[in-house]
Amino acid sequence: MTTATDNRSIQDKANEFVKPGHLLINGEWVEASSTLETINPATGEVITTFAEADAADVENAVSAARAAFEGKWSVIPAARRGKYLAKLADLILEHGERLALLETTDNGKPYFESSKIDIPFAANVFHYFSGWADKLSGQTIPSRSDAFMFTRREPLGVIAQIIPWNLPLVMCAWKLAPALAAGNTVVLKPAEQTPLTALALGELIIEAGFPPGVVNILTGRGEVTGAALVKNTGVDKISFTGSVEVGKEIMRNSADNLTKLTLELGGKSPNIIFADADMKSALRGAINGIFYGKGELCCAGSRLLVERSCYDEVVAALKEAASGLQVGDPFDKKTRIGALVSKEQMERVLSYVEIGKQDGATLITGGERVAFNNEFSEGCFVSPIIFADVDNKMRIAQEEIFGPALAVIPFDTEEEALSIANDTQYGLAAALWTNDIKRAHRMAASLKAGTVWINTVNMFDPSLPFGGFKDSGFGRDLGEDALDGYLQTKSVWVDLS
Ligand code: NAP
Ligand code: MG
Repeated sequence: MTTATDNRSIQDKANEFVKPGHLLINGEWVEASSTLETINPATGEVITTFAEADAADVENAVSAARAAFEGKWSVIPAARRGKYLAKLADLILEHGERLALLETTDNGKPYFESSKIDIPFAANVFHYFSGWADKLSGQTIPSRSDAFMFTRREPLGVIAQIIPWNLPLVMCAWKLAPALAAGNTVVLKPAEQTPLTALALGELIIEAGFPPGVVNILTGRGEVTGAALVKNTGVDKISFTGSVEVGKEIMRNSADNLTKLTLELGGKSPNIIFADADMKSALRGAINGIFYGKGELCCAGSRLLVERSCYDEVVAALKEAASGLQVGDPFDKKTRIGALVSKEQMERVLSYVEIGKQDGATLITGGERVAFNNEFSEGCFVSPIIFADVDNKMRIAQEEIFGPALAVIPFDTEEEALSIANDTQYGLAAALWTNDIKRAHRMAASLKAGTVWINTVNMFDPSLPFGGFKDSGFGRDLGEDALDGYLQTKSVWVDLS
């Protein structure tokens, strides 16, 4: 267990590593006119202050990004861009422990998640895209003898990137790495709840030697900094990850400028257990699918569809497994569910416990704020929630809760499972558990989701595209597809007649 003293030293370390109250503009830490506080959701304590960028700061950052795009960044060899990214990846690994400490303190997630998964994954993403920088070629199109026709793939220019609080450093990597590999420059805004690792990354970006203005980092609230960035006429493209509601607002607010958009939005992903599955892995997948990351994952398997012949057995096993998950101090190695990101988020999650009960679902475990009589007494802890006997029409099955809350829904046939799985506004991800290979492929082809996992869940690789169908958005992060979102094709026609 950590003690109050350890927590204070964590705060000191945070202040050492980031420049509180500053914005990264044109390669320098610039003071802002106002500041906000970021809170450790496990203790309720203020960690540090950070800057809020206003419209003037946004304008400066966008101008710096434009100058870098038209200037040095456009003329350095592509392989060199890749080297900056690789260097940044190495620095992330080198500073992994401090980054993980900041991530867990700011977000509340268990330290093992930050240190063993998030930070190495962020580095992997930079490494992966570093290799792409000099491999972005166009085509020659040999369809006429009187002309030489070819295409060039060119960067878009200045990219605004707005990201959520659930995977703060990972989201920085998903956004920055492909945009920079493709030759763009960036103004990035992290979420107000979790600004610290983005600021720490800013330090590492300077250390990696990126030319000034290539990456600018602006902290602040969405309605202030985010909105100014979205409306700025110097921005060529916005890449946003967050809620459907804010995604729509960004679309409306950028429409007048016809700014290009990628939206990675929410999910209500089905996790489907067929009776012929390997039950041990299916159960582990059901628990990890929703409770990893406190359920604050866009792709969380928040609807568990279970074939009726094994439904009672699965529900009983889930209840036992969930009540065995340790909730509490994110720095305790045994903790599996840390603090939810904020009081607001905790209240939102708890409100769905009431909604589920009112709609007639059976709460089989969890759903209460977990109280501690020590430095965690103000922490945002909730015991893992499982509702059984859920009808897919209920609000807990249709609305994204974005917390450790599972809705278990029985089904009788494969057709019914598919129909329930697709009966949602979202289409981000789906998982299924079966030993029938034909069924697995039938389902994978018919599920309306950007990612389908078969006999596994929540697996990511930098080379595999990730993004949504339906209201879960458009455009892709990761993989070669992510680069497409940061490039435009120019056709060149040379007359040979
Ligand atoms: P959010 O409320 O939509 O916020 C996301 C980002 O948008 C934050 O940086 C926020 O700033 C900013 N923002 C808010 N209002 C804005 C405005 N009017 N103009 C410009 N920017 C604005 O989402 P969240 O609560 O942070 O994150 C949870 C959501 O993200 C969930 O729906 C989840 O599914 C989704 N998500 C999706 C993916 C994916 O890949 N599809 C991955 C992770 C999360 P402030 O927070 O500073 O106000
Ligand atoms: Mg915080």
